[in-house]
Amino acid sequence: MSLKGKVALVTGSSQGIGRGIALRLAADGADIALVDIQAEKLAAVKSEVEALGVKATTFEADVSKRDQVYAAIDHAEQKLGGFDVMVNNAGIAQVKPLADVTPEDTDRIFRINVDGVLWGIQAAAKKFIARGQKGKIVNASSIAGHDGFEMLGIYSATKFAVRALTQAAAKEYASQGITVNAYCPGIVGTDMWVEIDERFSELTGAPKGETYKKYVDGIALGRAQTPEDVAALVAFFASSDSDYITGQSFLTDGGIVYR
Ligand code: NAD
Repeated sequence: MSLKGKVALVTGSSQGIGRGIALRLAADGADIALVDIQAEKLAAVKSEVEALGVKATTFEADVSKRDQVYAAIDHAEQKLGGFDVMVNNAGIAQVKPLADVTPEDTDRIFRINVDGVLWGIQAAAKKFIARGQKGKIVNASSIAGHDGFEMLGIYSATKFAVRALTQAAAKEYASQGITVNAYCPGIVGTDMWVEIDERFSELTGAPKGETYKKYVDGIALGRAQTPEDVAALVAFFASSDSDYITGQSFLTDGGIVYR
């Protein structure tokens, strides 16, 4: 799957899955715009991307802020000379029983996980259309976007919402040659899961590491997922191999949720 000559922007790419996606798309030949709120960490990922022989640029932006997402795309186009692939990867988790969720909790997570994806979709599509070209939009959903998970109810709601946006955007932008798909990872050993495991410990008294182990033990293929596993699917959605696929939210979870 060659992405040579393409420009891809990845949000939430200072670590974890986003970093893995950036490195995979770079290995496939794309120039990469790295976008995150953690500016200092982005610099290290930029060096890793450049070591693969492609161009990279960094931009500090909070995806929950619409103007900042538009500015990030303008930056990518100016610095890298094009814009072809938008990966709306940035997201946060929240572990809480539904009974304890506050308006502040829902505001925060919906602004990042749902509004952030929406701003990414509309800003990317606007840019593709202005440039008179086709484009690829790839959004982060989750197994929690297919099944509601206990203690992760609001997080699950945001990831179901990403599937809805993915379907609606696919229909709205199909006539302009823009495809919109989502990837739905399972249990990936990133900082997000360190935090989820810790919150479960606090809430349930489970020893540290037990919740993560319990979920990993339930994976049919017998191991935790890596960012590289997720990035392989994103690379497919970013490439011309997926040109006839749009509006889909594919599970990549080693066998947890079956649809
Ligand atoms: P992570 O916490 O390791 O990384 C998330 C990245 O997003 C960080 O670099 C963080 O700085 C950035 N970020 C957070 N809020 C932001 C904001 N407002 N604006 C810009 N950047 C922001 O998490 P991860 O595991 O790499 O998760 C990446 C995506 O994959 C998320 O959308 C997550 O919901 C989804 N996902 C993760 C898993 C998993 O098991 N880890 C499973 C399914 C889906």
